[in-house]
Amino acid sequence: MTANALIKDFQDILGKDNVLVAETDRYAYSYDSAVLDPAVPGVVVRPTDVSGLGKVVKLCNDAGAPLTVRGSGTNLSGGTIPKAGGVVVLTGALNKILEINTEDLYARVEPGVITAKFAAAVQAKGLFYPPDPGSQAVSTLGGNVAENAGGLRGLKYGVTKDYVMGVHFFDTDGELIKAGGRTVKCVSGLNLAGLMVGSEGTLGVLSEIFLKLVPPPAAAKAMMAIFDDVEAASRTVSAIIAAKIVPATLEFLDNFTIRTVEEFSHAGLPVEAKALLLIEVDGHPGMVEEDAAKVEELCRAHGAKRIQVAKDAAERNKVWEARRAALSALARVSPTTVLEDATVPRSKVPDMIKALDGIAAKYKLTIGTFGHAGDGNLHPTILTDKRNTEEWHRVEEAVTEIFDVALSLGGTLSGEHGIGLAKAKYLEKETTRGTILYSRRLKKALDPKGILNPGKIMGE
Ligand SMILES: Cc1cc2nc3c(=O)[nH]c(=O)nc-3n(C[C@H](O)[C@H](O)[C@H](O)COP(=O)(O)OP(=O)(O)OC[C@H]3O[C@@H](n4cnc5c(N)ncnc54)[C@H](O)[C@@H]3O)c2cc1C
Repeated sequence: MTANALIKDFQDILGKDNVLVAETDRYAYSYDSAVLDPAVPGVVVRPTDVSGLGKVVKLCNDAGAPLTVRGSGTNLSGGTIPKAGGVVVLTGALNKILEINTEDLYARVEPGVITAKFAAAVQAKGLFYPPDPGSQAVSTLGGNVAENAGGLRGLKYGVTKDYVMGVHFFDTDGELIKAGGRTVKCVSGLNLAGLMVGSEGTLGVLSEIFLKLVPPPAAAKAMMAIFDDVEAASRTVSAIIAAKIVPATLEFLDNFTIRTVEEFSHAGLPVEAKALLLIEVDGHPGMVEEDAAKVEELCRAHGAKRIQVAKDAAERNKVWEARRAALSALARVSPTTVLEDATVPRSKVPDMIKALDGIAAKYKLTIGTFGHAGDGNLHPTILTDKRNTEEWHRVEEAVTEIFDVALSLGGTLSGEHGIGLAKAKYLEKETTRGTILYSRRLKKALDPKGILNPGKIMGE
């Protein structure tokens, strides 16, 4: 349990209203979007300005109290499950968009800004911030940076790391560290901004983020390719990539996911299709027409039964909203939803999809598969009930096999959801023992008392 003296110090700095000690409040921050056991923190604090954030970090370090920063808690790898009795630091009140610079094409934000609100503010200024995790209506930019979040547009536009020009963060002494900033180029000092991206709150606490903005595409065309054969759809993905066309988005949905999403969103998805590819090309209008025609041709050549091109923006948005609802729709089916994001080289998508079918049959599990197929980043989603211990055992075996297959195909444990607590024990399989020890030495040097989000990524 967090010491009373520390709670008193928090109250002095932040005010009583921003220090939550009631059991019900603490319980609300004991879990996140991963299927892992909760751990109830001793106190939850809500800094309302950046200087308060720095002071909280220093107080935790002085007291040796484990600290977990939490944006919106939408991460799927247990990154915000705190140490029992430790401190949870909420960034929700640090939600200012400090600057959107339309001359130099960057923005400066506090870490608690909601991703979709930021993207809309940028759009209103005639610019574009492409990273768009499915959770963007809720997730924070601090959480996106700390997880190096991806999204639907990763194929053409890259992921969060490709937009981080600089960060400010607090080290464990509450010292403000500045890395990178407003310039497109900056090689002054170590690439500490790069170190912070994807560090899941284990190396420092982000207080300000500089993000690159780009001009929006002048035109876009979205289409839905309908297949009555899963393998044909997956081979089409590889064919589009191999033809050197780079759609903004290239998403896959299997039949189970299509039916579940349609029941939830009524977007007009063809429930009889064995698989769907949702594809969007964007850019210069002439190029868009040309690429769209080539994509259509490739889809037909590889067995698409039908292709529906969105007539207007409303139709296009409807389909993308349905796709973004995939996880929420699947999550309604059963009490426990295990969403994985093992990722393979793009040419191996057909092998991965086939292997997933085999794993579902072998372990007698319901697995809906959808995801960013153009990135090789599929989301096999196991629908189960954790209370059924016999079934849960099969789920654990299936998950391990999904990781093994992805790695044997030259892939990775996580394309975008991070390692957190959920996959820490598997990381050595993908890397080496030396990699884990090196990461631990780095953490020990930067966080000697081990207070920053202990246990995440490299274990303890
Ligand atoms: C429905 C749904 C759809 C999703 N779709 C996608 C997707 O398409 N692509 C994708 O990549 N992810 C996706 N996710 C996962 C998740 O939304 C992302 O990982 C997102 O980046 C988490 O943001 P958050 O604000 O919720 O962060 P949190 O979950 O609160 O935190 C994530 C990590 O960041 C750390 N952190 C947060 N703020 C700071 C800070 N200021 N300084 C240091 N560390 C910090 C936390 O300690 C934690 O380790 C999805 C999740 C859901 C529930």
